[in-house]
Amino acid sequence: MTRRDELAERLSALEQRLEAACTAAGRARDEVTLVAVTKFHPATDVAVLRDLGVSRFGESRDQEARHKAAEVDGVRWHFVGRLQTNKAASVASYACVVESCDRLRLVAALAAGARTARRELDVLVQVSLDGDPERGGAPTAQVPAIADAVAAAQGLRLSGVMAVAPLAEEPARAFARLAELADRLRRDHPSARELSAGMSADLEQAVACGSTSVRVGTALLGPRPPVLR
Ligand SMILES: *Cc1c(COP(=O)(O)O)cnc(C)c1O
Repeated sequence: MTRRDELAERLSALEQRLEAACTAAGRARDEVTLVAVTKFHPATDVAVLRDLGVSRFGESRDQEARHKAAEVDGVRWHFVGRLQTNKAASVASYACVVESCDRLRLVAALAAGARTARRELDVLVQVSLDGDPERGGAPTAQVPAIADAVAAAQGLRLSGVMAVAPLAEEPARAFARLAELADRLRRDHPSARELSAGMSADLEQAVACGSTSVRVGTALLGPRPPVLR
């Protein structure tokens, strides 16, 4: 079987899962966007998935993302990984959405990068649902201030919140907390409509909690190849 056939099969299985998850939640399939997380997979996979109809791709490391963005055109890039401020300008040059904004200094760096690149970036505030600083995300108490800063920054648009399910809690419970936080945030920022939650293992729970965007790697591309560092 060619890689193209494999990806086509995986995409169709994933589509069925998403369709079923939406139906179970009483939602329309078009309320949930698929972001294909291609980290560690080659740019050729991105091109194949693009040709199969996927339009949004997620990456978590700047260097890898930048190379793929230069190699594959006609797609939109979401940056979903831990982001150092010194990489913000680079990310602002190719990403259309930065999902992992989790501190005020990063807001300033992204805004400066967007201005230099003369681009507008959609920004999601990443929320930590377990308080583990190793896994990224802002503590929930800091989310309103970060969101206000994004909304006020020229070149950035606050589009919502993102989170990764904690390791030690039912995803459904954690996503319900995230959905509540997103609702509260929307009272001050009506444009912050996006709720990015759900990955290969927990997309059904996320869709049930109102996720508008799932970030799927393994279920779509298979196991990530080991990287040489
Ligand atoms: C890698 C990654 C994903 C995709 O995870 P899978 O379990 O492979 O679907 C989603 N979100 C973020 C932030 C990631 O780093």
